[in-house]
Amino acid sequence: MNYEQILNKKKRNEVLSFEELSFFFNGYTNNKIDDDIMTVMLKLICKYGLTDKEIYDLTDIFINSGDTLDLSSFGTVVDKHSTGGVGDKTTLIIAPIIAVSGIKIAKMSGRALGYTGGTIDKLESIKGFNVNLSEEEFKKELQDINMVITSQTANLCPMDKKVYALRDVTNTTSSIALIAVSIMSKKIASGAKFILIDIKVGKGALVKNIKEAKELSSLMIKIGRKYNRTVKCILSGMNNPLGDNIGNALEILEVIDVLNGKQNKLSDLCIYMSSLIISIEKDITFSDAKQEVKNLIESKKALNKFYEFVKYQKGDIKSIKISCKKEEILSPFSGYIKSIDAKKIGMYSMSLGAGRIKKDDKINYEAGIILNKNVGDYIAKGELLCTLYGDKKAPFSVKEIYKHSRFKPKNKNIIIDTI
Ligand code: URA
Repeated sequence: MNYEQILNKKKRNEVLSFEELSFFFNGYTNNKIDDDIMTVMLKLICKYGLTDKEIYDLTDIFINSGDTLDLSSFGTVVDKHSTGGVGDKTTLIIAPIIAVSGIKIAKMSGRALGYTGGTIDKLESIKGFNVNLSEEEFKKELQDINMVITSQTANLCPMDKKVYALRDVTNTTSSIALIAVSIMSKKIASGAKFILIDIKVGKGALVKNIKEAKELSSLMIKIGRKYNRTVKCILSGMNNPLGDNIGNALEILEVIDVLNGKQNKLSDLCIYMSSLIISIEKDITFSDAKQEVKNLIESKKALNKFYEFVKYQKGDIKSIKISCKKEEILSPFSGYIKSIDAKKIGMYSMSLGAGRIKKDDKINYEAGIILNKNVGDYIAKGELLCTLYGDKKAPFSVKEIYKHSRFKPKNKNIIIDTI
């Protein structure tokens, strides 16, 4: 067996065996083949796809490239994953709701790259917050307070880490097969028994249309079954940013607002996902689960759980700071806001310092944007449209991001489907 033969086989769109996939991908992880050769393989996978058997084999190969976490002694542990979006702080709202309802939730999260945010960066905007837990600390916290969030340990799916970094710079992130392998290998290796995946669909998301999102859901559910894991997928809209705040510290503040009862599309999605998890895990109706979630928010129990979690991981919530350098943008138009381009506003926030353009860039945790008016709101010319925080200048006019109309747009549900 050699690398060239395997590549030629894929060029002829022939099915690769477990041994061939393993030889090729392990060859890349062990530096026996270089980025250029791997890029050819990734582009061929984008062009021809993979069969279900190849997807299962590759997931197995990714999982076995590193350590796996055994959480079976905790009974059912829930994990929740989002395919990435702008303003998406759902994990930090859902986790305390689930934990305080009596269900354990454990999550390894990532950092921001490009215009989409990352939970770990958001948590690091809280002074002192420890995102690097050892396995022992991870398990102890899960036992003590029912929830834990840490950054992905170095040796969990190292093959995905290397391949993902290459996909990111070679325009090969959009392959549904590769997304399924990448997400599911990490989720299986992290040990949870019940996995809820929020597939973002739209302009600001990796997955641009509902057909692809359904294909991805079906693949991830099938992979989960192979490993005896329950996988549920939610398709949710990402044409517009999620919630009103974009940027790390600003998003932590919106987490607190939602756990304090603020209502918007973000809270709708979080309440829906939390209710789904609770109804499945407790085997109760969705409407009973939803009532439980609402009670946990109204009573502030979920908010107090969030504070308990921050304190447990040595964060000082009072340290949260927003940049004192701010610019208020007044509306150049009158009318209803029809859309706010999620990708553009994500890039805008990134250019204010809230995200990384290159992998090693330093983030300004205090930078970002507050959308003072959001989709569906009426705004008069000269009224406050949004507020920019941070000391960098953005490269294009914020006005390019908004579309408006004389008529009130239909209030679309953020949840597209549940599979
Ligand atoms: N998230 C991942 O972890 N991997 C992908 O390929 C896409 C989103």
